[in-house]
Amino acid sequence: MTTKPLALVTGANQGIGLGIVEELRDDGYDVILTSRNEAEGRAEAKRLGVEYLRLDVTSAADIAAVAESVRASNRKLDVLVNNAGISMDGFTDHVVKTTLGINFFGALAVTEGLLPIIADGGAITFVSSGMGELHVYSPQIRARFTDPKLTRDKLVALVDEFIAGVHAGTHERMGWPSSAYRVSKAALVALAHVLARDLAPRHIKVTAACPGWVRTRMGGRSAPRSVEQGAHSVVWAVTAKEAKTGGFYRDERVANW
Ligand code: NAP
Repeated sequence: MTTKPLALVTGANQGIGLGIVEELRDDGYDVILTSRNEAEGRAEAKRLGVEYLRLDVTSAADIAAVAESVRASNRKLDVLVNNAGISMDGFTDHVVKTTLGINFFGALAVTEGLLPIIADGGAITFVSSGMGELHVYSPQIRARFTDPKLTRDKLVALVDEFIAGVHAGTHERMGWPSSAYRVSKAALVALAHVLARDLAPRHIKVTAACPGWVRTRMGGRSAPRSVEQGAHSVVWAVTAKEAKTGGFYRDERVANW
């Protein structure tokens, strides 16, 4: 029986997620690479010599199957990296719902669905972004994101208000930016704060991390940073003792929010 800690990474068939899998493996973790594209994910897992499970973060059935598979092997997750994300062109109801559905609600569903199989003393991180910074919101909305009494349900209601505001054409008047990606990434930092508080009794460290602007399908070819640099920024927030629960980090430092 292996004594290595176990990590699971979402959206890891390519880009930063794949880089995170590789660094965690090299750091001595058993890693489960997950992806919604099974053929690509399996091929990468085979290449890296790690396990594979299919996980579309918007699929309740996939999330339940992953939890069951880990439980059936009598193991617990020491690390969960919520990396899967999209950035779409345009600003329509469809773009807003799809972006929030994957980047925020998907990460929330994966985390809540896997919580029973996360070890006490483990770590969860949400891959956020500098685009999650709060300077683009009205003071009222900023105050709601940063409220120390924010709960999971209040955060979901806040994100739902944005979606409804876009649909009604009132979101800018309400103090929101016209960017679903920005809102999704701000909400992930807030979620890290809420879960850090809620999971403190189980000593689970919850952080958010920004990889910086990285050369991937999403980041494009002119981005200044390599996948390895971006992945390391995230892995540090998971594994370093200096990265404290509730923190938002980039490049081994506290990031602005
Ligand atoms: P990427 O190359 O486009 O990779 C995104 C990954 O997420 C892909 O594997 C994609 O799968 C997966 N994904 C999308 N929807 C999914 C779903 N419903 N279920 C499971 N997986 C899903 O982008 P990246 O640059 O590596 O981005 C990784 C993370 O870093 C994202 O959260 C992104 O917002 C964040 N980030 C990136 C940058 C940057 O400059 N690149 C900067 C800041 C933050 P498919 O291959 O099937 O589409």
